[in-house]
Amino acid sequence: MLELNGVHTYYGNIQALKGISLEIRSGEIITLIGANGAGKSTTLMSICGVVPPQAGEIRFRGEPIHGLIPNRIVSLGICQVPEGRHIFPQLTVQENLDLGAFLRTDKAEIRRDLDYVFSLFPILEERRHQPGGTLSGGEQQMLAMSRALMARPQLLLLDEPSMGLAPLIIRQIFEIIRKINQEQDTTIFLVEQNANQALRIAHRGYVIENGRITLTDTADRLLSNPEVQKAYLGM
Ligand code: ATP
Repeated sequence: MLELNGVHTYYGNIQALKGISLEIRSGEIITLIGANGAGKSTTLMSICGVVPPQAGEIRFRGEPIHGLIPNRIVSLGICQVPEGRHIFPQLTVQENLDLGAFLRTDKAEIRRDLDYVFSLFPILEERRHQPGGTLSGGEQQMLAMSRALMARPQLLLLDEPSMGLAPLIIRQIFEIIRKINQEQDTTIFLVEQNANQALRIAHRGYVIENGRITLTDTADRLLSNPEVQKAYLGM
């Protein structure tokens, strides 16, 4: 579904990605794990066109997408939930969700997707007329994920969905990520510092260090890899 080949991305003179190659197959949950500043968020932003790569190629369903503007990439079926959620705090929950569907015209299907996100996160239906900014951190993460789902993506990019949340909410969020993957047939690329939880729901994973992929394997094998355990699982 998605292929990165030798992707190099810079912020001015700072080279954040130094030739990233990876692939995500349809139906998979793939996780990218790594330390602070390793290049995880930059990988996602390169895919969705916010920080375009200077070299290398990114293909979605075989077609090159590097160089396309972010709106066009969303319309192809790739949607990102950015780190820190970035919901619109002054707008109500319902208005935030409406914005997720702004490129769509299929009203009946939009209604169906709204019912689906409310079934995943009933608290959002209860709070649909409240401003997004009045929600708790966990609820804002739910809203950000729901807003992305309202675009009905084929590929959902999640940047640190567990950041700053309590353990109980984190478990709930990861369970729902698994559910979205299974029920909606949505392929998921999950960037996480919480490697333990991410590898428990992923099919495969990549390890990124200092802008380079240093290891890739099935999630099970990464979980039992002594180097991964030492560096990322606190064992
Ligand atoms: P974190 O978990 O802290 O978000 P990350 O793995 O997502 O880390 P990135 O945010 O992709 O890492 O950062 C990769 C490198 O690019 C780091 O060296 C970082 O300092 C640098 N970087 C990121 N954003 C910018 C920016 N806007 N301007 C300059 N350098 C940046």
